Amino acid sequence: MDHRLLQSVGFWVFLFSIDKKFATEACEAGCPCGGRLDRADYPRKPRGGPKSLPREYTYRLSFCCRREGCRKRVTPPSVRFLGRKVYFAAVIILVAAMRQGPTPRRVQELRRWFGDVDARTIARWQVFWRDQFPQTSFWKVARGQLALLAELATLPLALLVAFFRNGDPNSRENWRQLLVFVSPITITGGLKREVSR
Ligand SMILES: [Zn+2]
Repeated sequence: MDHRLLQSVGFWVFLFSIDKKFATEACEAGCPCGGRLDRADYPRKPRGGPKSLPREYTYRLSFCCRREGCRKRVTPPSVRFLGRKVYFAAVIILVAAMRQGPTPRRVQELRRWFGDVDARTIARWQVFWRDQFPQTSFWKVARGQLALLAELATLPLALLVAFFRNGDPNSRENWRQLLVFVSPITITGGLKREVSR
């Protein structure tokens, strides 16, 4: 898998178009109170992608209820942003996965490829995938869809193995499927842990 795909503007324009679709669906659904939604995007300065990504593609799409007294925030899922994390979701998946496997990439190498990402940040992503993500309600249900493939490797490498087992390792379509798959964790409360009983 080539890390350079994640530095191409075309890739992020492609992912942005998917986020726009999520946003359209959320807007059409409206607020749970029945009110209509107004655009209220969050300006972001995402890292790890192309250096010259036009600003319009860096916003986290979001809405606010128009109804006085409600004004609730509605933020649709995203294939670009993983909650409040600064780096793009695909970067967080790929870098953490590249630290795994039989021949893990050196931290130095990954830092160079993804714009001098801090070594401690990479370590935090690994903890996220190893400890936090598997505890989410989302994963406890969704892992079944990946069947046994997810058992063959540790996270997030397991996700790449599952979604890139067919075809071109640099396929945008495979990235699309993977990022849409994990997108339920990108909304508020999406990283909620399952309550143990
Ligand atoms: Zn409302």
